[in-house]
Amino acid sequence: MARIVVIGAGMGAMAAAARLAVAGHRVAVYERAATHGGGVGRFERDGFVFDTGPGLLHLPAVYRDLFVKTGKEPLERCVGMSQVDPASRHVFADGTDVSLPNASRAGVVRALDDAVGPGAGERWSDLVNRAREVWDATRRPLLEEPLREDHAALGQDPYPAVRKRGLFRRRGPVTLASVAERELGDARLAALLESHALAYGLDPRRAPGSATVLPYMEQTFGSWYVSGGVRALADALYERCRARKVEFHFEAEVVRLLEEDGRAAGVELADGSVAEADMVVAGVSPGRLAAIAPGAAAKPQAPVPPGRFTVFLALGGARPDGVVHRTVVHTGDRAAELAAVFGDDDRPAAGRGSGSGRGDYRPTVTVLRPDDPATRPDGGHEAVTLVATVAPHGRVDWADVPTADGFADRMVDAAAAAVPGLRERLLWREVRTPADTEAAVGAEGGGVPAPVLAGADGGFLRPGNATPVPGLHLAGGFAHPGGGLAHAGMSGALVAGLIVSGADWRGSQ
Ligand SMILES: Cc1cc2nc3c(=O)[nH]c(=O)nc-3n(C[C@H](O)[C@H](O)[C@H](O)COP(=O)(O)OP(=O)(O)OC[C@H]3O[C@@H](n4cnc5c(N)ncnc54)[C@H](O)[C@@H]3O)c2cc1C
Repeated sequence: MARIVVIGAGMGAMAAAARLAVAGHRVAVYERAATHGGGVGRFERDGFVFDTGPGLLHLPAVYRDLFVKTGKEPLERCVGMSQVDPASRHVFADGTDVSLPNASRAGVVRALDDAVGPGAGERWSDLVNRAREVWDATRRPLLEEPLREDHAALGQDPYPAVRKRGLFRRRGPVTLASVAERELGDARLAALLESHALAYGLDPRRAPGSATVLPYMEQTFGSWYVSGGVRALADALYERCRARKVEFHFEAEVVRLLEEDGRAAGVELADGSVAEADMVVAGVSPGRLAAIAPGAAAKPQAPVPPGRFTVFLALGGARPDGVVHRTVVHTGDRAAELAAVFGDDDRPAAGRGSGSGRGDYRPTVTVLRPDDPATRPDGGHEAVTLVATVAPHGRVDWADVPTADGFADRMVDAAAAAVPGLRERLLWREVRTPADTEAAVGAEGGGVPAPVLAGADGGFLRPGNATPVPGLHLAGGFAHPGGGLAHAGMSGALVAGLIVSGADWRGSQ
């Protein structure tokens, strides 16, 4: 039995902690905040309840596996889970409005044919079939195995070339944007594809064709809602950890890794106390890792990813029957949005500016309207969350109140397309910017890391779970296989596998 210190109580770190405890290790988690869950938080006011992080779960198998492997009670006995159907509604810039059924390819084809025009569904379906090849080729080496040192093969994009007029069309690097343009032949379908990347903070102009795996996963494995909000999943994982005798220390910031003979030997906390350990698992951002253990940090550090801007709306009046859970209201100015979010020009990134520049773009907004009595004071009210992907704090000063308020106004304007009467029903709103994420989660700029992708010469990979410092491992969204609820959960499984079975472990069979 080894003593293991885990830094941070995010989902990846807790997933590792639970698995390591079950394997017989003594595990202690040190978390700088006052609660568990990291980005998976909850905001409550006047009987309204909102998730501050993800609002839906994709790939529930990751957490089902975790709960099966760490105890008797399966996931679905610990939290209420339901599939969201329709999975999403899309309102495009030209007013086209389409609802896509959950996990039904035939249903999606029909819906797209009806809304976009004959043949649209088939073109989309063909693309998703090609994305399946990406999933088949990368599921194991990318998601279920630790990152190999010789990971050159993952630098190749497995998205298949499309044969057109007898020729394989592959000129220049294949990006998600070029796939959209060449293979979908419709601006609305392209917006649909690209919105999956943007939602994870990926730039479709740079992400490889393999990013098509994101809609594949969602349309194949479904979109799931957790009763009470996704925070309930973090609570269940925390309870599972405690049931396996994982110790938690809150408001306990780790400032330094202790090393002995070149090996991780424990951590020093901000109050000067020390926790000794045989092994350490860090589930924190790159900047924090560099401060704690400079020898383990990637050099050079990856750029800070985009963050999320969230607006919580408390509405008077009942949630109408038949309302779709998730609506994506697409921007009418893709170029301005991508430039603002990914910062490839020197114009104002958001909010600021004279009103004539690209800073005033209307963002792509995801509107979440869960049909869950636990999120509202009574049947005469509704809780609605708006989410947009935005530049990280720092590139935009999101702590500047007029900047944040101006951006929130534009999100509400966009959301009005999905929620008729929104302004008249609004009781109050609460705004969360990347500056708030930075304060809550500790990640630089409030950046939210995306899942890893194959292709682009490995430019979309993250550092492996083992580090150059023996005895120090990395979990969570900033390590392999990247961010998002499901991927961070997988990082926990990989870290536990490497610690329990040794550095030569090649993933579970
Ligand atoms: C606003 C927002 C929206 C998101 N939306 C989605 C979504 O729609 N879909 C999706 O799949 N994912 C989404 N995510 C991402 C998802 O929440 C995370 O990828 C996932 O929860 C995994 O987080 P993690 O394990 O990397 O830990 P994190 O959530 O990053 O937590 C890290 C923890 O470490 C602690 N910590 C940091 N430094 C120290 C230190 N020195 N000592 C002790 N503790 C420390 C922090 O306080 C924090 O609790 C969103 C995240 C945010 C913030």
